[in-house]
Amino acid sequence: MKSIYVALTCRNCGYQTHKQSETLILSDFEPYLKKQLIDETYFSAICPCCKNKIDFLHPCLFVEKKYRYILFIKAKHDQKATDHLLYQEKAYCKRYVDNTTKIKETMKILEDGYDDRAIAIMKLKLLLHLRKQEKHPVCITYFDSEKEQSSIWFKVKTEEGEEMMAVHMQIYDNILNILPKDDHEHYQNIDLEWAIQFQKKNLKQK
Ligand SMILES: [Zn+2]
Repeated sequence: MKSIYVALTCRNCGYQTHKQSETLILSDFEPYLKKQLIDETYFSAICPCCKNKIDFLHPCLFVEKKYRYILFIKAKHDQKATDHLLYQEKAYCKRYVDNTTKIKETMKILEDGYDDRAIAIMKLKLLLHLRKQEKHPVCITYFDSEKEQSSIWFKVKTEEGEEMMAVHMQIYDNILNILPKDDHEHYQNIDLEWAIQFQKKNLKQK
């Protein structure tokens, strides 16, 4: 919707090129761009010279009207107070996404109808639980949920491989009960760091 040209330099051969990109994506009008965000091809290009993959990132607002959320894709060091003036509709859940690999997961959580803050806390709990068992996950991602089995599934990646783990829905409901109302006036980074800070504050209040 608002086009820019991104200057790119290939890390492999040094070739300089550019790619047209958008800083505002409305899901309703550009479903193909949403698909590119999901399959992680939106912020990447192929070097015309050596065919190497070039990854890049620039600030980009993704507006999903159907599910009422906005993702502000932006590196953490670029995030600033004036960001919150963009798209001030209060009916929308507003999130920062600082890494392209988190886009798909964030979309899936919100579109499956979950509170991503509760999911982030569940992931932290799962991480701590696994560490106690001497397992050291490198990555935990929300996978999906089976309502009839009342559990939420996570994909846990360790150095040994990948496994699926189910967490009982009751844990999600319990976390939901202690969460404050979501702040729809600010874009928030909901990640592991956020979950740790929330848990610290929550323990202090007890
Ligand atoms: Zn190249």
